[in-house]
Amino acid sequence: MKIVKIIQWDMGHRVMNHRSACKGLHGHRYKAEICVEGDIVTKSGASEEGMVIDFGDVKNIALDFINNKLDHGFMVWDKDSELIDFFNNTTGHKPIIVPFTPTAENIAKFIFETLDKKFEDKYSTGLKLCSVKLWETPTSYAVYEK
Ligand SMILES: [Zn+2]
Repeated sequence: MKIVKIIQWDMGHRVMNHRSACKGLHGHRYKAEICVEGDIVTKSGASEEGMVIDFGDVKNIALDFINNKLDHGFMVWDKDSELIDFFNNTTGHKPIIVPFTPTAENIAKFIFETLDKKFEDKYSTGLKLCSVKLWETPTSYAVYEK
């Protein structure tokens, strides 16, 4: 069984080598669909009885990373020397320096790898992160799954 929690945040980026408008600085209202998979908890009297995982737990684990590290940040490829110089010489910004060009595909993989293993399989139901679907615009998304 799979369950999905949706998390949204605001973040800037640019895709440095892109042929069109994406190479300029801009931002998106990103949306991630965090899918967690496992058997339903059958332990009698457990808070999670009848659930794969409490939606609130998925939200808290995902938000701990997304609110603190990504929300109102600006994602920068570490090869983007122009922006790295800018962030090194200014304050008041929230750069997220990453070793990849920040496309929807790479951000989906990055979020997956960051959240992977954070979901504790406390009832031995095989609980694990299943996929991250990352919406960059209302009509465009990338999905990363192992
Ligand atoms: Zn963009």
